[in-house]
Amino acid sequence: MTKPVIFCDFDGTVTESDNIISMMEKFAPQGWERIKDQILSREISINEGVGKLFSLLPSKIKDELTEFAIENAKIRPGFGEFVEFARAKGIPFYIVSGGIDFFVYPILEKYGPFDGVYCNESDFTDERIKILWPNECDSLCNNDCGCCKPSIIRKLNTQENRFKIVIGDSVTDLEAAKHADFVLARDLLQEKCVEWGINHQGFTSFFDCIEEINKRIEVDELTC
Ligand code: MG
Ligand code: ZN
Repeated sequence: MTKPVIFCDFDGTVTESDNIISMMEKFAPQGWERIKDQILSREISINEGVGKLFSLLPSKIKDELTEFAIENAKIRPGFGEFVEFARAKGIPFYIVSGGIDFFVYPILEKYGPFDGVYCNESDFTDERIKILWPNECDSLCNNDCGCCKPSIIRKLNTQENRFKIVIGDSVTDLEAAKHADFVLARDLLQEKCVEWGINHQGFTSFFDCIEEINKRIEVDELTC
């Protein structure tokens, strides 16, 4: 195995459930589920759907919303240990998230620093919440991803061709998984990896991720 690099999703991966969904369940007016279903069935792009969802919410609830997200987020067991593991092994660790800055950064704060945290941004200056997209698709991707994980992977992997490990669970990880050398997957992502024949392994906790990556590193050390 060439030197590894980790690209890890946030919502539903680092945290046990999807923070955007939890926030909408609590704060959004009726009808938001339809937008969610359209995103999951890929009827509308993630970019369009997430923008629509947040435009349902007034900017003045920013503090309440942030507090709720931070208090509600349950970190998947073993995440702290996994970050330590990557650090000890010298494996670059990037968070690539379709989530939004105002909850991603505070929830991750005590685990960092990371080699990079990529997510969407928010603007609370108008009456309704606006989502900004600093990581849009490059010329090689036309999925209107919002936060384009394949574009980020391409940008970060230009220097050396590392063994790319993608960790994730859902619709924002599908395109990234196609670019991975190995995927640690849950839920929808796991189903798609099976369907598409992508090299992957399922996981429940980050202790599983440590074990799976360790196995591959050990094999490599033995053959060198
Ligand atoms: Mg996710
Ligand atoms: Zn894209």
